[in-house]
Amino acid sequence: MRRSTLPLPVPSEWFRFTAVTERLTLIEEPHVRGLLRANLWHLRGRRRDLLVDCGLGVTALVPLLRERFGREPVLVLTHAHLDHMGSAHEFGEVWAHPLEHVDDPAPGSLHGPTLAADLGLAETLPPALLNARPHGGYDIGTYRVRPATPTRSLADGDILEVDDIRLVVLHLPGHSPGSIALFDEHDGTLFSGDVIYDDVLLDSLPGSDRGRYAHSLRRLRDLPVRLTRPGHEGSFGKDRLHHLIDDYLRDEGGGRR
Ligand SMILES: [Zn+2]
Repeated sequence: MRRSTLPLPVPSEWFRFTAVTERLTLIEEPHVRGLLRANLWHLRGRRRDLLVDCGLGVTALVPLLRERFGREPVLVLTHAHLDHMGSAHEFGEVWAHPLEHVDDPAPGSLHGPTLAADLGLAETLPPALLNARPHGGYDIGTYRVRPATPTRSLADGDILEVDDIRLVVLHLPGHSPGSIALFDEHDGTLFSGDVIYDDVLLDSLPGSDRGRYAHSLRRLRDLPVRLTRPGHEGSFGKDRLHHLIDDYLRDEGGGRR
């Protein structure tokens, strides 16, 4: 087993909570590096809450949610990559598309070269994919994605009604076979997971499919999306969404990672 010999510091808090609106909180793991630093979106309902994705799972998340919001949310996974589903095993309600292997995920790694090889990435990743440790005894070499039990199977067109939260499930394969996005038809907000974000789209991972990715993005372009809340990087409006989609479709994935 690999042991990290890097003197990584231990921050006072692992997760960063940012209230975006009265009912929406962005949760991040600022000490996770590069492509593994994901956005978790917490939607506050009147009596029940919903969380979109749950981070790497290097330290407990549910107790912090209980402390901050007074209850455990329903967890919806946009897909089963390590940076989105790591903490899923902590949740009582876990909803995902059946083509994502939430109950048998890829083991993952926080050792850059190992993860790059597993994912078939051409780029070089740093030895440690964390720049801090969640607690003093933490050894990044022991990291494995823990399986979770899906409690609801999501399909394209499903309406998620959690209290007064209402989102439409869009099955948009390409990045992964069962990637979904969640669309709020009322205000035009799209929680896009890794279907689209403002960076190079990863379309050659194990399970990726460039043809399906292009098809999914064409479908997304026709939707009345006003604001995208992605799985990585910052939020963006309709013009940026269309620009990112058109950029991808112009290349059709050719020459990308
Ligand atoms: Zn992903």
